[in-house]
This record gives sequence, structure tokens and C-alpha cells, in this order.
Amino acid sequence: MIPFEEALAISNKYNPVSKIEHIDLVSSLGRYLAEDIKSDINMPPFNKTAVDGYACRKADLDRELLINEVIPAGVPATMTVGEGQCAKIMTGAAMPPGADWVFMVEDAVEKDGRVKFTGKAGKDNIAKLGEDIRKGDTVLRKGILIRPQDIAVLATAGKARVPVAARPVVGVISTGNELVEPGEKPASSQIRNSNAYQLTAQVIRAGADASYFGIAADDETGTFTLLSKALEECDIVLLTGGVSMGDFDLVPGAFEKAGVKVLFDRIAVQPGKPTTFGVHEDALVFGLPGNPVSSFVQFEMFVRPMIQRAMGAIDIAGFRKMQLAENYERKRGRRLALVPVSLAEDMNVKPVEYHGSAHINALPGAYGLMKVPVGLTKLKKGELVDVRQI
Ligand code: AMP
Ligand code: MG
Repeated sequence: MIPFEEALAISNKYNPVSKIEHIDLVSSLGRYLAEDIKSDINMPPFNKTAVDGYACRKADLDRELLINEVIPAGVPATMTVGEGQCAKIMTGAAMPPGADWVFMVEDAVEKDGRVKFTGKAGKDNIAKLGEDIRKGDTVLRKGILIRPQDIAVLATAGKARVPVAARPVVGVISTGNELVEPGEKPASSQIRNSNAYQLTAQVIRAGADASYFGIAADDETGTFTLLSKALEECDIVLLTGGVSMGDFDLVPGAFEKAGVKVLFDRIAVQPGKPTTFGVHEDALVFGLPGNPVSSFVQFEMFVRPMIQRAMGAIDIAGFRKMQLAENYERKRGRRLALVPVSLAEDMNVKPVEYHGSAHINALPGAYGLMKVPVGLTKLKKGELVDVRQI
């Protein structure tokens, strides 16, 4: 058994190679930006009015003004605003030459082609050329997860095609003779395969492509056959089950036969002790535990950050300090524990009801996982603890 941190340090050294691809704007939602983005224009590209109103000279604010022309957005002015004059102007239109001020329609009385400002002079209501973005500015950083608001910036910067990290392909294999697929009714001694679908969803959430290879039978050839296929086609291969100490836990044998070099196969962590990691010339391989909570948790600890690193992500899933809402106690402290916690009032966390690593419906009510270090069996209400959001 190796310490959790040591296992992490080992797997952290390995990353699948990620390429760059260029895709259209909206498709880039939820992808990791692969290059810094610079703007090819100033924003605004010209001095423009931020309101519907009248463009004039500030010095003339206390006079009745002659309206020269009406300037809609997208149409340049045809006249210069002189002394005693103004142009009626719509939000987003370029300022006419000669004007240095805009007062709002709400603060004006217009009659017979003339207008009088009735408000109190405050700000000029002009958005200045380049005040938001300067041509050549870096507007988005490589490694961000692209959200709708980033897509607006990409569109403004003229990026009709967006450079993003190509998604690594992650293969998923279930093992176990007791498993049937979710569309089937389990017979006696059978259960439904939940891990494959949970893992597939975790893979997609982490930003990668998932490929499901099915359920391998617990025999010598079952796992080996699916594993060999997955190794050929994927960057990372995930198996669940078959890595603990039972007579039919045949994954380690399949690893050996397929040429997967195992770097660790027991971690001092709870849940997820049998988590196994190995390298193959074609792919990185994880043997995750069969119990659904263990499989989920160790994916979050090892695989999610690996996918994010491979894609150059800036914001990699990590722990942050939160306050414990109630006392916590466990019997033994030999392993590092990752305890499902919910959010209490004031953003404090408290352990959810949790019967162990097969307790599949403990996680939907959990906000995150609380780290309890080796050697610690008690934590006090109010203490700061490390929590990773799930
Ligand atoms: P194993 O490590 O193969 O002995 O599996 C440990 C426990 O997890 C057993 O109770 C299995 O039935 C269960 N299990 C294994 N694979 C899955 C799966 N894909 N979905 C749900 N439960 C599973
Ligand atoms: Mg099994």
C-alpha cells in the first residue's frame, strides 16, 4: 500500500498527448481554449454613444439646440456639430465630429426640430474608442473552460474558428459476471452495471470523449480481449471491478498479459484502496474498484485532473478550505479518508449519511469530498477542512 500523495505524484507524471483543433464558435462551449486570444480590433472600434439622446458640445448644455440630423446605429454622421447644434443619436452610433457630449432622451424636451436639455450634467455618455479592449490585447487566456460569456469575447475578437484542445479518448470497461445493463431486470444474484455509465459521464464532464467497450466476463480471456481493443483505440483506459483480492479478480492478470506495467495497485485511501495504475505503450490504464462510490471518488482524484492537465486546463479540480459544520469521528486513521459531505448553512460542510463504498445513493446528496489525513480520527466543528467539489 502506498500513501495517497505518493500515488498522485506518480500518476501526475503521465499525461496523454493533446493536439489542437479548430472548431466553430458555438461548438467550443465547454472545451478548453488551446491558445491565448488577441483582439484584432479596438472595442469600441470608434467613439460611440452609450445612450439614446442628443450629441452636442458640452459648452452648449444650457442652450436650446438645433437638431442637425438623426444618426442611427451603424450609419456615420454626415454633418459636424457646431455651436448651438446637436445630432439626435441612437445607442451604439458613432459620435458625430464636433460633439463631445451626449444627453439622454429622458433628460430632454424636443419640439419643432429643436431640443433643450432639462437634466443635471453628469457624465458624457460616450464609450471611448478602445476603452474596453485595445487592439492586440490578450482577451482570453489559454486553458480556460469556454463558457457562453467567453464565446461573446471570441466572436468580438473575430475568432469564427476557435483553437481548442482535442479531447483525449477514454475507454471504459466494466468487469463482473454479476452485471447486467441498465435496460435489463437483474435476476437473482445480479446487479445493474452503474459504473460504466457513471464513469462515462465523469469522462465527458472532465472534457474528454468516452468510448464504452462493454462488460468483460470474469474469466481469463474476457478482460484481456476488451482491454486489448481499448488499448489500441484510446488514450486512457478505465476498468472497474476485478482489482480486489477475490478469486475472480482477474484484472491484474489481464494487465500483465496485455503488457501494462503496473506502477501502483494499493493505495492507503478510503474508499478506493485497490485503485491500480499502469502504463502501456499505447495508453495509460486505471483499474478502478468495483464499488461505485470508490470508482467515482478515485476517478475524481486521479483521472479527472489527468484529463484536465492533458488539455492544458488552468483550473484543475482541486481542494479548497471549508469549515466543518459538526464534529467528525472515524474508528481508524490508517488511511486517508475521502468523506462525502453536503453543504450546510453558511457554506459549511457536514458528512452525509454514508454506509460505505457500495452506498450508491450517498453521492447525489453530496456537494463534495472532505479529506481526512492519515493519523487523524477526529475533526472538530468549526475546523477548516479540505473539500473537493464533485
Ligand atoms: P469487485 O472489485 O469486482 O469484487 O467488485 C466490488 C463490488 O462492486 C461488487 O459488489 C460488485 O458487484 C460491484 N461492482 C462491480 N462492478 C460494478 C459495476 N460496473 N456497477 C456496479 N457495481 C459494480
Ligand atoms: Mg468483480
